[in-house]
Amino acid sequence: MRQGTSEPTKKRLLQKTLDSLDASRRAPRSFYVLMLLIHVVTSLAVPNISRAQTIVTLFGMQIPMAAFAGVVSSLGNICIIMLTVFCGKLGFFTALIVLLAQFPMLAMNIIRSHAYNSIPGFFTNILTLITISIIYVNMRQAEKYQDRIRNQAVTDSLTGIPNRFACSELVVNLVEQGKKFITVSIDLNNFKSINDSMGFGAGNEALKTVASRWKAIADGGLSDTLDFIARLSGDEFALVIRDYDSEEEILRTIQKYKDALQEKMTVDNCDFYVSASFGYAEYPTDSDKMDTLISYADAAMLEAKRSGNSDRIVRFTPELLKEEHTLEIEKKIRAALEKDGVFFHLQPQFDMNQKLRGFEALARIRDEDGKMISPGEFIPVAEKVGLVDKIDVTVFRKSAAFFGQLLKKTNSDITLSVNVSVRHLMKNDFLQETKDILECNGIPAKNLEVEITESVMIDSAERALRCINSLKDMGVQIAIDDFGTGYSSLSYLNSFPADLLKIDKSFVDKMNDSDSMRQYVAAIISMGHIMGFDVISEGVEKQQQIDTLQSIDCDFIQGFLWGKPLPAEEAEKVAVENAERFK
Ligand code: C2E
Ligand code: MG
Ligand code: MG
Repeated sequence: MRQGTSEPTKKRLLQKTLDSLDASRRAPRSFYVLMLLIHVVTSLAVPNISRAQTIVTLFGMQIPMAAFAGVVSSLGNICIIMLTVFCGKLGFFTALIVLLAQFPMLAMNIIRSHAYNSIPGFFTNILTLITISIIYVNMRQAEKYQDRIRNQAVTDSLTGIPNRFACSELVVNLVEQGKKFITVSIDLNNFKSINDSMGFGAGNEALKTVASRWKAIADGGLSDTLDFIARLSGDEFALVIRDYDSEEEILRTIQKYKDALQEKMTVDNCDFYVSASFGYAEYPTDSDKMDTLISYADAAMLEAKRSGNSDRIVRFTPELLKEEHTLEIEKKIRAALEKDGVFFHLQPQFDMNQKLRGFEALARIRDEDGKMISPGEFIPVAEKVGLVDKIDVTVFRKSAAFFGQLLKKTNSDITLSVNVSVRHLMKNDFLQETKDILECNGIPAKNLEVEITESVMIDSAERALRCINSLKDMGVQIAIDDFGTGYSSLSYLNSFPADLLKIDKSFVDKMNDSDSMRQYVAAIISMGHIMGFDVISEGVEKQQQIDTLQSIDCDFIQGFLWGKPLPAEEAEKVAVENAERFK
């Protein structure tokens, strides 16, 4: 155990933290020496100056040298007062000794040498002594008060252990030193239920017991490492571990804190047990920034909590961030579904003469702060957590309601394309739901297009295929989205009941890079045509791409160049204008 070395270091660090809160900073040692020196020199000089017969000429006036004795003596006394004010206890006692030591000398001077001109100096010394004593007593009182405030600022009032402020001061100091350390995020499990079932008083008692057990380990040097424990808030604690050599040593230390909870607690004659989740991150391996490091330790702790396995002590890994991010997005999706926050934008699709073919409805979610989250982010999470069908159906219903009106208004033969996930497609009521939505909004089946991805075609069971066939029988069009990104075989594609092939943006992007890429896209288009599909290119952003696509016989275009995804009102303007133009 490194108890011998660890304790003083620990105290020094806490003192450093406390000192940093001290408003009245002590003067440096050189100031102390300078003041003392000036005082000694002036004290020795005063008797000689007062006896001197010399006449000094100053500003044309003839002044006897002895007249300066008072000035020099006052300078010496000011230094004595400065020592008391700026050099604390040491300064005061030095001043006291120096002044007291002068009394016998002055008295001897007066009695033996009849140097009556020393009498004012004698009384000045007495007055200075009284002055510095008053200053010192007052300063001590102010310091005591300041000490109390400083201690309160870094101590958690409930448990008496360091608080969040002390902890972050320590971490900042350690980061400045650049030495490795571990920060452990600790959260008590089900603490709320103790508060709820036994009352806040019992909850507070439990927190105090936990803190005192952990303090005993940290301050008593009961682990092999140098530890610092703090309460951050509520049931959140933080442990900072230093002086470790291996991962095993870290885990052994954390285990000690875990084990300290195994003993039962008794509050108001009730016995109960408390457990906690522990997650940790290392400086500088995981992050060299304080805030990031703490949030990483938190992410590890949440993972330990989520796993429900109270024996787990989790070390931060970058994978945890993805998990965190997923959870955050999932929360936003759920909130949006509950609060009607899922809506749609419409991206226009055109033929090569820029005549409107229709719109693709694209899901949009706004979070509680009003910020839009991209579908590229939330659709994969919604798929993972089984919410994508709810998004699909919301977008379908809302966009169909708008589109039905638009068809009537423009009296044009345009198409509404909706993205459908496998999960949605496989639902028992999907067909009936589609029929209802079409009927309810007066949309002919041929004006609806269902977009499925290539992966749906490949991976999905018979049931999905049966469903697609039924849609087709109803007259609904089928589009294969993101074509080229999956691995569908030609023979499978040939038998697939699709109407439209959507060439993925990644091919359109590279199409003009080389002749072979251009030929590749041209081959997809002619192959699509041979199989009886129309072909649309996605993500068209440049005129040059349109020129190429025209030259290789592409049928339709969808991309930012001719139309970005638009809110319903703006999409309506595009539809109305286009209907006018191609009347
Ligand atoms: P997608 O079905 O392939 O939709 C086309 C995506 O490409 C849209 O992104 C659109 O904004 C974007 N895009 C179109 N033209 C351009 C262009 O010229 N440049 C660039 N950079 N991007 C362009 P968005 O809206 O972010 O949607 C991403 C994907 O999310 C969609 O890809 C689709 O797979 C999925 N998604 C969107 N809405 C829904 C929905 O309601 N249900 C389901 N299941 N998936 C959806
Ligand atoms: Mg799509
Ligand atoms: Mg696509």
